[in-house]
This record gives sequence, structure tokens and C-alpha cells, in this order.
Amino acid sequence: MEKNDYDVVIIGGGPVGCITGANIKNGKVLIVEEHQSIGVPLQCAGLISKKGVKELGNPGGKVNEVRGAYIFSKRNMLKIGNEEIRAYVFERKVMDKDIAIKTSRSCDFLLKAYATIQRKEGKKKEYSVKISHLGKDIELQPKVIVGADGAKSTTGKTLGIVNNKNREILSSCQLEMVNADVDDDFVYVFFDKRYSERFFTWIIPMGKDRVRVGLIDRGNCYNKLLKFIEENKIAREILKNSTISEFSTGSLPIGYLERTVKNNVLLVGDAACHVKPLSGGGLYYGAMGGKIAGKVIDEYLDGGRNLKYYEEMWRGEFGREIKMGLMIRRVLLKFNDDTLDKIFEKIKKSDLLDYINAHGDMDKQASLVLKVLKSIDIGLGLRILKNLIQ
Ligand SMILES: Cc1cc2nc3c(=O)[nH]c(=O)nc-3n(C[C@H](O)[C@H](O)[C@H](O)COP(=O)(O)OP(=O)(O)OC[C@H]3O[C@@H](n4cnc5c(N)ncnc54)[C@H](O)[C@@H]3O)c2cc1C
Repeated sequence: MEKNDYDVVIIGGGPVGCITGANIKNGKVLIVEEHQSIGVPLQCAGLISKKGVKELGNPGGKVNEVRGAYIFSKRNMLKIGNEEIRAYVFERKVMDKDIAIKTSRSCDFLLKAYATIQRKEGKKKEYSVKISHLGKDIELQPKVIVGADGAKSTTGKTLGIVNNKNREILSSCQLEMVNADVDDDFVYVFFDKRYSERFFTWIIPMGKDRVRVGLIDRGNCYNKLLKFIEENKIAREILKNSTISEFSTGSLPIGYLERTVKNNVLLVGDAACHVKPLSGGGLYYGAMGGKIAGKVIDEYLDGGRNLKYYEEMWRGEFGREIKMGLMIRRVLLKFNDDTLDKIFEKIKKSDLLDYINAHGDMDKQASLVLKVLKSIDIGLGLRILKNLIQ
């Protein structure tokens, strides 16, 4: 492999790196992935909205259809949904590989290869890529580098545009369990600070008798998840005869990056914090951002466009929703379990559930939650709005 063999090097062969690569038509692209296979290890619950599935290019790996959610506070429950199918559950390993196979028709892959960026000698402002592959070091000098290297993006850190001030990294633990006694049509979400203080716990039906039981929080997630499985009445009932068939841990970035482009490097997907702050879903925004990045890189290689245009574009599409989500998350984190119980009670007594069923969009959660909070507590809604405007 020669230094100038590729116009674009993408660091990370996850779904967003692949979608970015597949959308570059005017240049030669290499995708570098540190693992020996695409899609492993698993770090996802695999729940994707209808719109998200379309945005991802209708990949393979669908295992279940979902019509809504049972959402629990400590003592209350809201049932959202009706006959309409709202989301799908995917086997991420199959999905990621399918996306990668489609991408490999136009991009090269280098697996089991770890890539980092470094300043180009002589051209101080530009970066090159150093790849460690099976005991060998390779240096490439592409025109553009894409950091699609996930939640803990070393590319973003090396650029100095990702840090602990502009994003929070949460941890996760998830178990796949078989022989569960579950309503296959609904996901179960638990907002209960006894188990997760900063996020939530879930049970997602995978069809037949399989489920994913998982939890995201700041740390100690495995023990918190075991406590949830042992103590929570709903979980105990669903999982009473179940056994574990898979264990996974992961990281989720929650934040907003003012900069996602520096010199000849762009960040996409989790590396760019393109994740919904209220649910942790990253595939929909990731796919949208990847497509935008691919298009802008194409125009840049043609000589007509500054890479910075990527930032303008993704902000226009979903930047406001991420910002609003972060603001609402800050307010929700201040609520204790009793306040959440009261909010759930108010929602039950209002006609908001009908509104949510008719207009709820899981890809625009922040707008929906803001509407709900404003409806049940005008003062709270106004405080959030005031913060949003500042
Ligand atoms: C527990 C959990 C549950 C989730 N559930 C959902 C869900 O239900 N729905 C949803 O939409 N989203 C969900 N998400 C978020 C979703 O998984 C991510 O947003 C999505 O995977 C982002 O894709 P990506 O391609 O940006 O990053 P990743 O999928 O993380 O891919 C990054 C890739 O880069 C590779 N890599 C990293 N560093 C290097 C390097 N230096 N050199 C080479 N390769 C490198 C990694 O090996 C990896 O393959 C969940 C996340 C977690 C943690």
C-alpha cells in the first residue's frame, strides 16, 4: 500500500463509517477497522425507528417488530402505542455486516488494523493516518480522513475537539436472555434511579422468547443490572425461566460538539456525538450525518466545497433536536423518583397519551418531551424554553 493510494481514509468500520464511505462517489476510499470482523463486539439494543431503518438503507438483520412501549417510573406505568408498527429490533451483528458488504462494493476494507491520525510532516495543518496492521506500520496521506471511531473516538481527542466538557461517556451492560415470557410487541423502559441514576433500564423483545435486558448509567452497570433483574417485579416475572445467552458492555456518548471538522478531518456518528440524548439512539442521526459527510467530501474532492459545510448541514438536520434533548436531560436528571411518579400520574390523567400516540416521533423525542412537560407544568416548560433560548 502506497502513501497516496487513497483519497479518503475512514477510521472505524461501524455502520456510520460504512454509510459515509458508501456515499463517496468521487474518490478512492479505505475503511480501517480494528476488529477482525464487522459488527462485533455487540454494543447496542438494536431498536430502530421505521425512518431510521430507511435511512440505514433497509439492512438485513431484522428480528422483531414493535408497536409501542411500556414506560415505568418507580410506581407508575404508561402504555404508549397502538396497532401501528413504530420500530424494529435488529440483530446488530447481522445488520452491520450487511451494511459493510454493500459498502465493500465501492470501498476497500482493512480489518484487524488500528488507525490513528498524526500531523503531516511539512504540512502542519493537515493530518495523515498511521495504521498498525499485523505487526506492520503503514502511513497513508489521504486528502480527507473521517473519524468514525465510535464513542471513545481517539481521532476526536487527538484533534482536541472532543473532551469531557463537551460530552459525557456513559457505560452499559446488556444481557441477551432466552425463554422469556414477554409481550413481543412492546419494549419495556424503566426510569427508576434505584437501578440507573443517569439513564434507564430496558427489556427489548427480540421475537419468539428472546429479550435484551440492559442498563446504561455512569458505572457499575453489571451489578446494577443484576439488582434490577432480581428486584424489579416486572423483570422477575418476564425473566423467571430465562437463561443468559449473550453478555455485552459498551459506551454511549452524550453531548454536543461545536466542531466536527478540523483541517482535513471530519467526525461522524458516535465520534461526533450524533446520539439522541434522551434515549441513546445513535443509528438514525449517525446514518443521516454519514450521508451528509459522504456528499460534502465528494464535493470537496471535486474542488467546489469546504469540508466545514458538513457541520452546517448536520446542524440544520438534527443539531437543534440534540441541543434540546441535552437541555431536557439536564432538567430530568434533577427529578427524583417521586417527581417522576407524579409526572406519570399527570400524564395518565390528561389526554396526552392520545396526543403521543397520534404525533409521537421517536426520532424527535426532545420536541415531544418538551410538549409533554409544558402541558403538565407550564412553569417547568417555560424554564426549559428560557434555557433553550439562552
Ligand atoms: C448499550 C447500548 C445500546 C444502544 N442501543 C441503541 C438502539 O437501540 N438504537 C440505536 O439507534 N442506537 C443504539 N445505541 C447507539 C448505537 O449503538 C451507536 O450510536 C452506533 O453504533 C454508532 O455507530 P458508529 O458507526 O458511529 O460507531 P460504532 O458502531 O461504535 O463503530 C465504531 C467502529 O470503529 C472501530 N474503531 C474504533 N477505534 C478504531 C481505531 N482507532 N482504528 C480502527 N477502528 C477503530 C470500532 O471497532 C467500531 O467497529 C446503543 C448504544 C449502547 C452503548
